[in-house]
Amino acid sequence: MSFKNLLSPIKIGTMDVKNRFVVPPMGTNFGNKDGSVSETTVAYLAERAKGGFGLIIVEVTAVESRGKSIPYSLGLWSDEHIKGFKRLADAVHAHGAKLVVQLVHAGRQGAKAYCGEDIVAPTPIPDPLIKEVPKELATEEIYKIINKFGMAAKRAKSAGADGVEIHGANGMLISQFMSPYANKRVDEFGGDFKGRMKFPVAVVKSVRDAVGPDYPVLFRLSSEEKTPGGTSPNDTPVIAKLMEDNSVDAIHVSITTFGRIEWLFVPSAVPPAFNIPATTGIKKAVNIPVIAVGRINDPYLAERIIATGQADMIALGRESLADPEIPNKVAADLTEEIAPCIYCNQGCVGYLFNPNILKLSCLVRPFTGKEDKIKIKETENKKKIMIVGGGPSGLEAAWICAKRGHDVTCYEKDSHPGGKFRIAGMAPTRQEILAAIKYYMTMGKKYGVKYVFNTEVTPEMVKQEEPDAVILATGGIVRTPSVKGSDNPKFFTVEDVLSGKSCITGGNTLVVGSTYAADVADYLGERSWGSKVTVVHPQKELPAGYSFVTGIWLNQRLKDYGVQVISRASIKEVFENGVIYEIDGKEEKLEGFDNVVLAYNYSSYNPLEEKIKGFVEEVYVVGDAVHVRGAIKAIEEGMKIAVSI
Ligand code: SF4
Repeated sequence: MSFKNLLSPIKIGTMDVKNRFVVPPMGTNFGNKDGSVSETTVAYLAERAKGGFGLIIVEVTAVESRGKSIPYSLGLWSDEHIKGFKRLADAVHAHGAKLVVQLVHAGRQGAKAYCGEDIVAPTPIPDPLIKEVPKELATEEIYKIINKFGMAAKRAKSAGADGVEIHGANGMLISQFMSPYANKRVDEFGGDFKGRMKFPVAVVKSVRDAVGPDYPVLFRLSSEEKTPGGTSPNDTPVIAKLMEDNSVDAIHVSITTFGRIEWLFVPSAVPPAFNIPATTGIKKAVNIPVIAVGRINDPYLAERIIATGQADMIALGRESLADPEIPNKVAADLTEEIAPCIYCNQGCVGYLFNPNILKLSCLVRPFTGKEDKIKIKETENKKKIMIVGGGPSGLEAAWICAKRGHDVTCYEKDSHPGGKFRIAGMAPTRQEILAAIKYYMTMGKKYGVKYVFNTEVTPEMVKQEEPDAVILATGGIVRTPSVKGSDNPKFFTVEDVLSGKSCITGGNTLVVGSTYAADVADYLGERSWGSKVTVVHPQKELPAGYSFVTGIWLNQRLKDYGVQVISRASIKEVFENGVIYEIDGKEEKLEGFDNVVLAYNYSSYNPLEEKIKGFVEEVYVVGDAVHVRGAIKAIEEGMKIAVSI
């Protein structure tokens, strides 16, 4: 299949874009504390321009410091910010891409902690996620903010940006004004449709006045707010048309608000291109280009969306975090080499919302956000490297080492690559994990990695091979917990169930423990056929270890299947048909189960390190073999060793 539509040029107003690939404006927290552009931002976006994206839209750039939507937001509220954006524009232009700056005021979706003063909104109703009561904007303050959008647009233009995008989506201040759910004003800026549209239209006019008639101005809109009383796919085409009538050059169609954040970062449980039907409704209402976004996970799908006139351009958000070179790979007909986003939400939104990390990265591609610090360089000292373990850390280390020119053999004791990561991919809605494993193998084969399966490496084998370096990526093994009764051979493990080794087709099932407990309950709940699934686990809530956004969807499915979840349970004993546990000092007993599945954590498995240290000069241990922490750390550690060895 050809990708002629995706690869064809397009015009947005006066701006010529070389293809239909867009990097949408994703908050990264890579900015400096004062709102200026950092070297990390420049390197991160330049990498995507180099990877062939035609249009790059710079994330949430605040028009005043009180309008920041993330702690390390970019800003254009001062002339001091212009030089950083100039550096960014030059870096992106060097690769033939166009740069558009997204202008935002977060309103009630900011926070006093990083905005430095009270947050503001059309109406003092707190955002359900932020939970901070905003100050109601007085009329004169509204006019000041309208003016600030124009001033920020002028600065973007003077920095050399090719256009600006007004952020009227995702629950930010403009969409708060547009929303009957967030805007309860009865003055000139509220009450009815015309009143609610007064602020966004005034912002568009202010920007247009500031940049002139020929400068590209885009408008981002949510196709719907996913909230009762909020905007819907029935009224957002009307808004899009209004923006076109007020000189906007393109509409970028996102979805939802922070209050329903699970729709902003949908996992694989939600069908690919889920926002396309609503986008098509907007496309029919306007005669300017429409940009689609939202889990468009495959270039074949993207090509059909454009070919069938459902949208004009395709924004790849998390997909471009997982692979900055998608357009170049599509153009070279190397789609099998595209690193797939697995929609885990761990390295991107998970890291962004983690107060100890705050900076976005990617589970599949740990280089993301480190483009200015880590590069794959050809080695000057070619080594023979044995990699023991074909799980995610071993696979990541293997292709990078081979790409650098090392002689690499990767050994796996199982008949398939992927280790526990592959087992996780067997759970319902985690299918894209398998695509990631296939991608690592494709890259390894491309660069000459030799894979040896069904082979448990022994110290004797290592001695015989005489490698210069060994990377031990032996992962973790199923642990029999010390809980009384849990060594019963009749009990199943998560691996037994998800791998298909054992099939539970009926009867009531008890799942005890937390690791993968939610996934196995999801799998069993879907197949419970009238019987009952109960999870008893020690954590505060299921699913432990997942991003909270993915967890919202998974917990909803468990509810739909009628899975009973008992949290904060200290397990005392597991017996043939039940469990004894303690909550708040009170002992409880559950019995009458036909099947018991143990979902306890894994233990590190590192049988070789001490035995080979004496005769191998370089021995490295990575991933769960060091300490069980899951795929995100395993892949990152595999990468870090591979670029430095
Ligand atoms: Fe996709 Fe996961 Fe990477 Fe986020 S961390 S971009 S969801 S693969």
